[in-house]
Amino acid sequence: MAQRLNAPDGGSKKNSTVRVAVRLRPYMNRQDEKGEGPCVRGLDSQNLEIINWRNATETVKYHFDAFHGEQTSQQEVFLSSVKPILPHILNGQNASVFAYGPTGAGKTHTMLGTREQPGVIPRAVREVFNLVNAKDEDEGWDYRIGMSYLEIYNEKVLDLLSPSSQDLPIREDKDKNILIPGLTNTTISSFSDFDKHFVPATLNRTTASTKLNQRSSRSHAILLIKVVRTQRTVPHRQQTGKLYLVDLAGSEDNRRTGNQGIRLKESGAINLSLFALSKVVDALNSATAGRVPYRDSKLTRLLQDSLGGSAHSVMITNIAPEYKYYFDTFTALNFAAKSKLVVNKPFTRETVAVPVLPAKRPREEHEGGGSGSAPHKKKQKDKKSELDGSVSSAHYHSLSEQSVVDRLIALEKMIMSCRDKDEQSVLRDLARSRKEIQELKEKQKEFERTTARLSERAKENSTELPGFKNSAAPLQRNVTNPNKQRAVVQPLQVCNLQPPQLLAVSKQSVCVKEKKKKLSDLVEPPDGKENMENPWGSQLEEAVLDQSKQKILHILNTGSFKELKGLQQIGDKKAKLILGWREIHGHFTKLEELIKVEGMTQKRFSSFMKANILSAVGK
Ligand code: ADP
Ligand code: MG
Repeated sequence: MAQRLNAPDGGSKKNSTVRVAVRLRPYMNRQDEKGEGPCVRGLDSQNLEIINWRNATETVKYHFDAFHGEQTSQQEVFLSSVKPILPHILNGQNASVFAYGPTGAGKTHTMLGTREQPGVIPRAVREVFNLVNAKDEDEGWDYRIGMSYLEIYNEKVLDLLSPSSQDLPIREDKDKNILIPGLTNTTISSFSDFDKHFVPATLNRTTASTKLNQRSSRSHAILLIKVVRTQRTVPHRQQTGKLYLVDLAGSEDNRRTGNQGIRLKESGAINLSLFALSKVVDALNSATAGRVPYRDSKLTRLLQDSLGGSAHSVMITNIAPEYKYYFDTFTALNFAAKSKLVVNKPFTRETVAVPVLPAKRPREEHEGGGSGSAPHKKKQKDKKSELDGSVSSAHYHSLSEQSVVDRLIALEKMIMSCRDKDEQSVLRDLARSRKEIQELKEKQKEFERTTARLSERAKENSTELPGFKNSAAPLQRNVTNPNKQRAVVQPLQVCNLQPPQLLAVSKQSVCVKEKKKKLSDLVEPPDGKENMENPWGSQLEEAVLDQSKQKILHILNTGSFKELKGLQQIGDKKAKLILGWREIHGHFTKLEELIKVEGMTQKRFSSFMKANILSAVGK
């Protein structure tokens, strides 16, 4: 096998990321569009915004490596996103360009284009020939350009240059090069030579597509241009660079769009490979090191040596501005986004005047995730009528189905859980440390204020404070007791102390120096024995406990997937179950209701409470 420079190691991502560009195609004012105007628009060369489906008065702003607006020409897309990576192919490196997005958003236009407006494929092939022809003879290399054209359909690899062939295997050689034994590789000597092979194969595919239920939107079309260069003199080194140009299957949810003819298997295969691709792109673009799951689908397996590692990869996400694409646009943007931000300003529609929408949210929000506004509580039974009533506006006609909204929510959950997987532990640790430091500072301040207050009152009314007879305030008393002093600087929650008169009749009492143990006892009082030794401490702890409980309850009721996972003993599965429970039942009125969540036994609940309360008070 020819040598490939800087081969990716196949498992780790090194430094390479996938450059993400978004292309918005022009608005197509068809008869059935109801003149609604666009729901998404560009802001500048890297940013765009889309109406927030949760709240019509907000937009969600997305940031990408590049944004190509409606007026961007085929030439401009090529020059900015594709041309710069092509010289690497001649140096034995790999590259991939793929068009992602829902059917009808412009993937084929971007990749293939028309005779009048040729797309990335003809332009890139032409450019590769130009680059080879421009090579200086004196450099001492001979170049050979070959092409293969294949399709992945239903997780089967099919050779478009040899249509009778069956599903081809994907293999990896010892140098981690990905190979497809049996795949036709035709040597081409010029652009017209390329055209001669490519056009009939494309036509074949298109003809088949109309017969086969628009198969083209359900398969990935992959053109491979291979440049092999060989040294003329000994040792006759050989290097191979591969360029994959991919028109992906439509990213719309085929089950949602109710494609009746589509078989479950077919739809599953599309969703699987695009989902796998999203995980790979995410893993490559995330800040933390981690395994890149190339092996999860044929598509990602095939692209393994040309996506990430030392390869040069560009994803052009195609989106359409019409409202009927809203769900799919939203999905595509979330897949591709580098970052997003909710912007609190109305989306001014410039093309069509529209009635003002009531700023109702379609349903209860339970995901933080940066895409929504403050939580808004609604019982499930109210949701349907709310949707039926308020979403009568033409703009939300495509969002008014409960199933669409459900899917938006499920989608966000899924995206968050995948995106977070790698970064989760790092971010969680960081957030926790920051929170702890902040809490510690606040508690220290509050504690100092409290002790000062108590000290004042104790001076005024010393006979009414039996617990403080020998010391004006706990802080002073603790000075004489090293153990207690240590306990005092523990990160206690900010709390509202009761008046000093009441402190002496506190129900439960906790020795501050044994805080850990006693706090867990408070969760599950062991023997009901009271310890009147330090009523001030007791009161403080009780308030701490109450506050911790409130805090846990608050997270259970309003926390995002990520926040739920920030709780002790809550992993992916439990967080999802809690979100699911909230979806159906609204919110938890008390913590004990948590045992109603699937898999949460009384014992687990007790252990959950102990762990979280101890964690909340800083152990
Ligand atoms: P997809 O391959 O994603 O299903 P197509 O490329 O077939 O979408 O585009 C759908 C329609 O929109 C086609 O009629 C195409 O010509 C048109 N179109 C897409 N993008 C553009 C664009 N940037 N400018 C003009 N027309 C476009
Ligand atoms: Mg297409």
